[in-house]
Amino acid sequence: MVNLPVYMDNNATTACDPRVLEAMLPYFSNLYGNAASRSHAFGWQAEEAVDIGRAQVASLVGADPKEIVFTSGATEAVNLAIKGVFESYSSKGNHIIAVATEHKAVLDTCKHLEKKGAEISLLPVNQDGLLDLLILEAAIRPTTILIAVMFANNEVGVIQPIKEISAIARKNNIIFFSDASQAAGKVNVDVNQFGVDLLAFSAHKMYGPKGIGALYVRRKNPRVKLIAQMDGGGHERNMRSGTLNVPAIVGFGKACVIAKKEMAEEAKRLSRLRDKLETGLLHIEHSFVNGSKLHRLPHVTNMSFDFIRGESLFLSFNKELAVSSGSACTSATLEPSYVLKALGVPENLAHSSIRFGLGRFNTEEEIDFVIEKVTRSVSVLRESSPEWVV
Ligand SMILES: *Cc1c(COP(=O)(O)O)cnc(C)c1O
Repeated sequence: MVNLPVYMDNNATTACDPRVLEAMLPYFSNLYGNAASRSHAFGWQAEEAVDIGRAQVASLVGADPKEIVFTSGATEAVNLAIKGVFESYSSKGNHIIAVATEHKAVLDTCKHLEKKGAEISLLPVNQDGLLDLLILEAAIRPTTILIAVMFANNEVGVIQPIKEISAIARKNNIIFFSDASQAAGKVNVDVNQFGVDLLAFSAHKMYGPKGIGALYVRRKNPRVKLIAQMDGGGHERNMRSGTLNVPAIVGFGKACVIAKKEMAEEAKRLSRLRDKLETGLLHIEHSFVNGSKLHRLPHVTNMSFDFIRGESLFLSFNKELAVSSGSACTSATLEPSYVLKALGVPENLAHSSIRFGLGRFNTEEEIDFVIEKVTRSVSVLRESSPEWVV
């Protein structure tokens, strides 16, 4: 028997790993010092915990600890990266390149900067969700100061050709930022191997606590300079003031250690389960996978079931299955997802899409249950659908 509801919405957030929680607990009780207090043991202990956490987080992405800036999450890291570059490099130019399928954190930050004089080029993607490198090269101008391309997409799991993109950015002397919220801790995201200058990621997407994230900021070749978006006590090398969230940093560090150690095994196990789920659901007539099946995260599949209304499909899951349709952040609206639109998925299919985000705690029994549940729901709904003619 499986425990209900089955959670397959791990792209929205993940459960905090019990090992992470255990590491954090002392910092909510005895070890409550402020990491910036230099005059007593409470502060020293907190500072030491932060140093360890910072080294663990840096190690996951192959960075130097000095290159990690802790933030409240990926949204804040994205804001700091894009706004920080825009303000810092205004003498060089005002043009920013991003992609239509980026997370709202990137898109809305760009929109905000447009009002402040930035010129934004939002590049289209192919049907498989991948950015065309020729289109990228053609979009570059002498005034381009930043290229922002996410590592892996939160809705369809598609992984962009990051090495190739960074090579283009490097060749043109442009800073390259990647939102790796979905990729970090799941696949190899090494900032030097991939040539990334700024990288945002978040603990709660990788079995850590909510409310903590990081921005990697390259210190050499090139040295990236950011204007802070939060002023105050000068924490985080003046890039992000505010008392450090010590328990969350400890948890983030532990989550990174676990991810680094278990990533390869976990990816293998989850891709096998994901493929089993996908194959099982493709037995349903008129079902489709959205986005590249080749270049994508091992634990994600986004599928559409024609002749079904998305809302009714979700209602029929009844409290047994936790998944998302479209973008989690806007799933309260009935607008089809802008990401699926950018891939050219027809409206009817975009409306009937489900994102399955598998995670560390999913089991084979749950996969079997979900295949059966979704197959039954689709069949029942089609029987009562006026468009469904057998
Ligand atoms: C979740 C997510 C974010 C936002 O991260 P928070 O830590 O929740 O602010 C940004 N980008 C992508 C791709 C995400 O999946």
